[in-house]
Amino acid sequence: MHELEVVLVPQLQDNYAYLLICKSTQKAAIVDCPEADKMIEVIESKGVTPVAILNTHHHWDHINGNRDLIARYSKIKVYGHHSDKERIPGMTYPLQEGDIVTFGEVSAKVFFTPGHTNGHISYYFEQTGDLFCGDVMFYGGCGRLFEGTAAQMHTSFQKLGALPHETRVYCGHEYTASNLRFAAKVDPDNAIIQQKLDEVATLRAENKPTIPSTIGVEWQVNPFLRVEQPAIKQSAANTGADSSDPAAVFGAIRELKNNS
Ligand SMILES: [Zn+2]
Repeated sequence: MHELEVVLVPQLQDNYAYLLICKSTQKAAIVDCPEADKMIEVIESKGVTPVAILNTHHHWDHINGNRDLIARYSKIKVYGHHSDKERIPGMTYPLQEGDIVTFGEVSAKVFFTPGHTNGHISYYFEQTGDLFCGDVMFYGGCGRLFEGTAAQMHTSFQKLGALPHETRVYCGHEYTASNLRFAAKVDPDNAIIQQKLDEVATLRAENKPTIPSTIGVEWQVNPFLRVEQPAIKQSAANTGADSSDPAAVFGAIRELKNNS
């Protein structure tokens, strides 16, 4: 039995934290929580035992809840990339690419996915097909390049894109509608983007999350994964970028998004 229940916990304006519950042991892990109170409420209502905080990166809107969660659950283990030891409050378990994090009977593999920040990591639960990728890959988009380069982010995207297509992608923000509107501009003949825009509009009108998507859907709609598709290359070439270099295409599309 390797069953994982994923509870999405909306935070702040458009952040998503997640409570992950190992169903056979009722042990739980928290992914990226800025508002501890809301998370503690969910933990209490589920009656589970939180044993780990899995941080993807050091930004305030992903780690601000750490101190209160640690104060409440004194034995909780705090995970993050080793290079963020000084930037992630309470980190007890520094990680790197290829490490395995286990709680209860479920395990996640750690991918080093820099670009948004220098110490960004993603957690992949291979047994259940769930990926938690913070502010690297969003549904239909990608995080801003605050610390890293377009080439690094492109490499991170290709790493996550290599996962099985059915993998569920849980990202850190509800940016889907805006991402897909931009995707439609740089990939104008892509009918799947239009279809997903309709689906997403319906969900958001009911105030429902659009998360998760899947790696398969991302290959269909996300311009930052589709950098080798002719339409995306053309959109990059129109800005003067070298469309034969996928990382340059990635950078040009990211620049267009910044100014969109
Ligand atoms: Zn961030």
